[in-house]
Amino acid sequence: MNLQERLKEIEEEGKKIFSTVNDLETLEELRIDFLGKKGKITDVLRQMGKIPAEERPVVGKIANQLKNKLNKLLQDKKDELTELAEQKRLADEKIDVTLPGKEPNIGHVHPLTNISNKIREVFIGLGYTIAEGPEIENEYNNFEALNVPKHHPARDLQDTFYINDNYLLRTHTSPVQIRTMVENQPPIRIIAPGRVYRSDELDASHSPVFHQLEGLLVDKGIAFSDLKGTIELFVKAIYGEDTKTRFRPSYFPFTEPSAEVDISCVICGGEGCRLCSQTGWLEVMGSGMVHPNVLEMAGVDTSIYSGFAFGMGLDRIAMLKYGIEDIRLLYENDKRFLHQF
Ligand SMILES: [Zn+2]
Repeated sequence: MNLQERLKEIEEEGKKIFSTVNDLETLEELRIDFLGKKGKITDVLRQMGKIPAEERPVVGKIANQLKNKLNKLLQDKKDELTELAEQKRLADEKIDVTLPGKEPNIGHVHPLTNISNKIREVFIGLGYTIAEGPEIENEYNNFEALNVPKHHPARDLQDTFYINDNYLLRTHTSPVQIRTMVENQPPIRIIAPGRVYRSDELDASHSPVFHQLEGLLVDKGIAFSDLKGTIELFVKAIYGEDTKTRFRPSYFPFTEPSAEVDISCVICGGEGCRLCSQTGWLEVMGSGMVHPNVLEMAGVDTSIYSGFAFGMGLDRIAMLKYGIEDIRLLYENDKRFLHQF
């Protein structure tokens, strides 16, 4: 075949086939097939030796022009396909702003945090501030300064996690009272919420780690009636206006006189039920007038000042408030449980 005719044929073939391509991969394969080192045009040029010398420049020129033409066609097609791919990508990524959004997964406030926040609100409203202390406490602040003598049962190794001879995991939040009185002169009004530790076996009502909230007020002329008024206000704020409060004489080393505080049963309202063991009352906290020994050891002048203190288990307060029957639920972080609050 005449080489010029062959080139013409390649041109027609190229034009026809390039226009049908619709992906970049096939296009590249065609480029190699037509213009590559082993491609159709190279194949023609290899046969130049067979034609008369005077025809060679003409064929060479036509071949070069064809190369340029086909390259241009391929490039145009490539641009077209790239543009289409870009449009498709943009269309795929288009955001329909009218679609309803995904609901963000908002967590719940843990019932313990919730009750703690509520109690803080009540006392902050009464002019109290929040005080904190370390969970690793020295023995003096945890026991001696609170008038707990050396051989008191509360010091039994069974109850306390000792770290060494002098340090322990605080068994109550009361050491925060001591720290506050040592560092500040009266008037003092604080609440101290926090984690405490006792080596209790884990069961439905005991946990080796639990939470307390301690309150302390020291000022001139503070009497037991101030304590009663404060506690009654607190109880109504947390459990409702109809909740009754009862003070029962008790004994704590760090208060004198001391009283257990009962509230009318949150379930039966005083009629008697399983929760209150048919008594109509539930014990919620310990309280009393701060023992003069405790005040004096902390450097408070008892000829001028007196004070009251109270301490409650936050876990129990939360359990009664929300009707939770097992303390372990508060620590297991089961979402099915937490989701209810
Ligand atoms: Zn009851």
